[in-house]
Amino acid sequence: MSNYITVIGLEIHAELLTNSKVFCTCSAEFGGDANTRCCPVCTGMPGTLPVINETAVEYAVKAGFALGCDINKFSVFDRKNYFYPDLPKAYQISQLERPLCINGLIPVEVDGKVKNVRVNRIHLEEDAGKLVHDDFNGVSLADYNRCGIPLIEIVTEPDISSAAEAKAFVEQVSLLLQYAGVCDCKMEQGSLRCDVNISLMKPTDTEFGTRAEIKNLNSLKSIVRAIEFEEKRQAQLLDMGKRVVQETRRFNDNRGETKSLRSKENAHDYRYFPEPDILQVNFTDEMLDEIKAKLPELPDVRYSRYVKDFGLSEVDAKIIIQSKLVSDFFDDTVSNYNNPKSICAFILTELLRRINLGEVAMENLPFSAKEFAQLVEMADTDKVSKNDAKTILRFMIESSKSPLELAKENGMLIEIDTGKVLETISNVLAENPAIVEQYISGDTKVFGFLMGQCNKALKGVATPKVVKEELEAKLASLK
Ligand code: ADP
Ligand code: MG
Ligand code: ZN
Repeated sequence: MSNYITVIGLEIHAELLTNSKVFCTCSAEFGGDANTRCCPVCTGMPGTLPVINETAVEYAVKAGFALGCDINKFSVFDRKNYFYPDLPKAYQISQLERPLCINGLIPVEVDGKVKNVRVNRIHLEEDAGKLVHDDFNGVSLADYNRCGIPLIEIVTEPDISSAAEAKAFVEQVSLLLQYAGVCDCKMEQGSLRCDVNISLMKPTDTEFGTRAEIKNLNSLKSIVRAIEFEEKRQAQLLDMGKRVVQETRRFNDNRGETKSLRSKENAHDYRYFPEPDILQVNFTDEMLDEIKAKLPELPDVRYSRYVKDFGLSEVDAKIIIQSKLVSDFFDDTVSNYNNPKSICAFILTELLRRINLGEVAMENLPFSAKEFAQLVEMADTDKVSKNDAKTILRFMIESSKSPLELAKENGMLIEIDTGKVLETISNVLAENPAIVEQYISGDTKVFGFLMGQCNKALKGVATPKVVKEELEAKLASLK
């Protein structure tokens, strides 16, 4: 049991999904051959002038609305000066005193308890390039494709008090940004990255302890592990009467440890000053209303819609909204076949299972929501058995054929032919007179045998349900 309270504040960097970069017209798409997506502006050549991307500003404001922030109607860009080989201008255009968004609030749930985490600010800035370390030749190469990709930095107040809360917070932010449509939040590709500021204090302390900052964590797992490691490291120092040094640390995923990188810079080390090449951003109420109106439906609203209008259970609704892609697909499917509960059940038990098995990815499903709707409807209306429906889904993942085609091809389509059903039942009864006699004289156990014979003869022609009804009716008429 630890004697300390953990205090955590997060800085989350999220790359915005604009087509072009924030101050030039280069493509902002992820990847590309090294240095093929840059120009004199984003590589900081002397004499070039940046022009701000209006969509980037709009996306940052959308993020602000999604995270419950106030939007500053008047906001300013600043130069943050530092040298690093991935930053050819030797300064980053960012925002210091007047960021676009302030005072947000995000409720997160951990173990059924809701914690409100305050967002201090969201500002817009540009990303830096990337260094590629070539250990074989002993050199580092600079790739400037990422230079100038629009980034928002979301800074929280130090309201987070555990690794679990930090994880829940990042998950919630990631969900909100994806729903807002401003970031794809792929931590493995670096479009969402997190710095953790962490310190410990005694319950009786009146001031926060000295913090360490762990830079550039790129998975939820490493956020959790880095926090847990730091909690131990700092507690040990404090227990020995030593002090925590304010510094920037790096988390080593393989070792599960953080290591000192450099002593922490203060804001004045960066010699911030107002960026002379970029105009201030001024909004009117109408402009902000317009952006707000463009904001897509956010997860909480969807959740209530699923529970209230569709009658999904709270647990199921939560799983569906947990991924925007899944939720969008669910909505699309429902718009093709209005049976939300049944569709939800099929998504949760079958589709997500296939995805978890790695057979297919939600990002590129080989079938449409319309086809998926057809499949669920076929199973619901006994055109195929429930079991065969699962198999057909597997086929749909492997081929581009429609569920109906696949059901026909594989002899799974049940086309109920009542005449045939009645004829077959008559034949089965005629072949088993003794058993029919037994049934009529009250020995109803033999029903199962007759049912089995009929089902065998009627495979693909009728569902067991139909066979059972017709067989019961026929036997009743013989009494
Ligand atoms: P800087 O400009 O040096 O990065 P900020 O004041 O912007 O510092 O804070 C950065 C982050 O550190 C914020 O998320 C804030 O909540 C967090 N933070 C500040 N002080 C502490 C502390 N003593 N312990 C933990 N986190 C802290
Ligand atoms: Mg900072
Ligand atoms: Zn460029």
